[in-house]
Amino acid sequence: MSNRTVCIVGSGGREHALAWTLGRAAEVVVTPGNPGMPGRTPEGFSISVTPAPPEEVEADLVVVGPEAPLVDGLADRLRSRGRRVVGPGADGARLEGSKAFMKAMLAEAGVPTARFGVFGTLEEARDFLRTLPGPWVVKTDGLAAGKGVLVATSLQEAEADVAAKLGGTFGDAGRRVVVEEGLSGPECSLMVLCDGERVVPLAPAQDFKRLLDGDAGPNTGGMGACSPALAVPPRLVDEVVSAAVEPLLAALRARGVDYRGVLYAGLMLTPEGPKVLEYNVRFGDPEAQVLLPRLLGDPVEVLAAVADGRLSSVCDGELEFSPDASVCVVMAADGYPASPRSGDPIEGLDSDGQLVDPIDGVHVFHAGTRRDERAGPFLTAGGRVLGVTAFAPTLDEARGAAYRGARRISWEGAQFRRDIGTEGEPAEGRVGESVAGTTAGRPR
Ligand code: AMP
Repeated sequence: MSNRTVCIVGSGGREHALAWTLGRAAEVVVTPGNPGMPGRTPEGFSISVTPAPPEEVEADLVVVGPEAPLVDGLADRLRSRGRRVVGPGADGARLEGSKAFMKAMLAEAGVPTARFGVFGTLEEARDFLRTLPGPWVVKTDGLAAGKGVLVATSLQEAEADVAAKLGGTFGDAGRRVVVEEGLSGPECSLMVLCDGERVVPLAPAQDFKRLLDGDAGPNTGGMGACSPALAVPPRLVDEVVSAAVEPLLAALRARGVDYRGVLYAGLMLTPEGPKVLEYNVRFGDPEAQVLLPRLLGDPVEVLAAVADGRLSSVCDGELEFSPDASVCVVMAADGYPASPRSGDPIEGLDSDGQLVDPIDGVHVFHAGTRRDERAGPFLTAGGRVLGVTAFAPTLDEARGAAYRGARRISWEGAQFRRDIGTEGEPAEGRVGESVAGTTAGRPR
């Protein structure tokens, strides 16, 4: 294929990393994208953005970044028009759209997970809560932008949270709640590509979810990532694929679900072995920013093979990644995650959105920016603003370069962690606080 065009759906750092990676081998159009994306790749392909809906963008391949349009059936609508799509249909995307469905599939597939029940009334939920030893975990069934989970230390707290969720604090997403036993242990995640039949794992990456150094502070969408992952020995990849991915996909197939896209398994490494906390139906962000650019070969061909159901034609069980390490430091707006402030002028970026003073191996992925030539050229426009991502032969060098990059960028109240890519504390499941806590602080 020459002059291929790929359409990417979404507007965050993950989609910028996808564009940058696929732009090694194809023209890229991102919808709706963000103003930090447009430009030309070193290979000479263009990246452009358009407000046109994905159905109207001419492309040989469509890659859907975020979960919401997948849950909403975008992949089905595109496929019914004969388009090649990376991303599951609404039936597969229910894994992320409904925790009750996800848990039912885990039970059906025999995948280890926390004991659970699904409830629509407080009375039933209360009876079940009382059978659990605690801590107690309460989750909205539907999508809640990562904010619908509470790990409670007391029964009263858990019951109050069930009542609040069923009472409408999360709207329709909380019409049913999933109540489960609290697990403990370090967390890890693994992403795989699936073409409906075959599964190929991506290189392990690690994200840093808490706002503050040492894994303190509230949960966020992700404050950084590194690859290779510190907490994932290579053996674990095979174990997770055979215990938590293959059986799930087989159970989906048995229900007639043809899953073509990315599957992200979030796990807790408990004393009894790995247990699944959740599945996502798309690339993790910021993990995508450290992983995708390291994919060797023709990335468009790999994703086209996912869409076409012919992964075996591009690899025999393993994808090749550059031996480079990578670190992404997320720079977030003042007030993130509780109430991020927008509109602060960003210093240190040129009109292409990259470092005024470039550093070898460092690329700035945009997530929440907007253009304002008079003030900037960029202003903050979202919680997570930039992902400063570095690629280097060792993790130490990548971390050093990413932080040098981050220090060359500034705006009023910018926040970033100082310990991305270091061992720090393991990300233990914490109890006694909402994982969506609202006590934002500043790393210092
Ligand atoms: P989820 O969206 O289901 O992955 O939950 C978000 C976060 O809540 C996870 O990353 C864990 O830190 C925590 N969590 C979820 N389920 C449990 C559980 N059963 N036990 C302990 N912590 C949990």
